[in-house]
Amino acid sequence: MTQKTAIIPITLPTPFDVGPVNCVLLKSDAVTLVDSGAKTEESRQQLLSILKDHGLTFKDLDYYICTHYHPDHAGLSKEIQESGVPTLMLREAVPYVSGDRKFIEQGETFYTDLYHSFGVPDTLGRIELLKLRKYRTFSSAFVPDTLPLPGDEVPGHEGFIFLKTPGHAPDHLSLYHEKDGILIGGDVLLPHISSNALLEPPALNETERPRTLLQYRETLQYLYTLNLKTVYPGHGEPFTNAAQLITKRLHDHTERAKTLEHLLSDEPLTVFELCRRLFPKLYEKQLGLVVSEVVGHLDLLQSEGRVRVEEEKKISHYRRTGVIR
Ligand SMILES: [Zn+2]
Repeated sequence: MTQKTAIIPITLPTPFDVGPVNCVLLKSDAVTLVDSGAKTEESRQQLLSILKDHGLTFKDLDYYICTHYHPDHAGLSKEIQESGVPTLMLREAVPYVSGDRKFIEQGETFYTDLYHSFGVPDTLGRIELLKLRKYRTFSSAFVPDTLPLPGDEVPGHEGFIFLKTPGHAPDHLSLYHEKDGILIGGDVLLPHISSNALLEPPALNETERPRTLLQYRETLQYLYTLNLKTVYPGHGEPFTNAAQLITKRLHDHTERAKTLEHLLSDEPLTVFELCRRLFPKLYEKQLGLVVSEVVGHLDLLQSEGRVRVEEEKKISHYRRTGVIR
């Protein structure tokens, strides 16, 4: 007889602004860890100590599943895998987590050129690149053993399936139990902050960057159709008001897009000028996040034909197309 899965959140410290991260221990026929925290000694010790409270070490895990490549979730993946634990991620994660040189170099060139076209001063662009390199040091390269497909059953945990939930990260997966209405959601939906649809380079062998906010909105609209009673998020407490939260997030996107449209009332502006006007206090310290936020909403406006891009000397200027509705 198969056992019902016990869901045990494990909260670990991270060195990032987002604060602590939640991993999840699933116990039924199999014992599975979902996410592993950042690669810091503090986080590692805490994870080992909590597992020990459950009578476990890394070796005792039957599976390790990582929701997405960001180091606050994937940091200790390599160490867990090296303890002999089969490691599962979506196919899209491979170039990110495997330390693929070509992909990293393409990504860096992509960010440098893109920031330039956004009108970001080169000094600030370079600082962002250094921050990105530093960020990567909080996880070690590895190649997942198994690449489940969306809809596949989660091994050892009856009723759970893998969902592909991109937007916050292109490789983002969630675990969903339809009958019990449970979502182990990583960063797809957070209770206290909106998940940033981060700017991403084109996938390997592609030339266009993904429109991550549009992807994320599709993911949210898809999640809205599911039976979501309890969500276990990657940051913050488990929550039950998923439908309400999804509605609010989608609404907030359209409101922020309108604000940008208003900023474009008088003249066309670059992404950097929009960043400064929309986030005057934040833009220098958090430029990466701010640029993602602005570009995401410009993509949304562009997809609805409300702005168009004009290039002049390799700098993109966004122009409003018509009357604000
Ligand atoms: Zn996170």
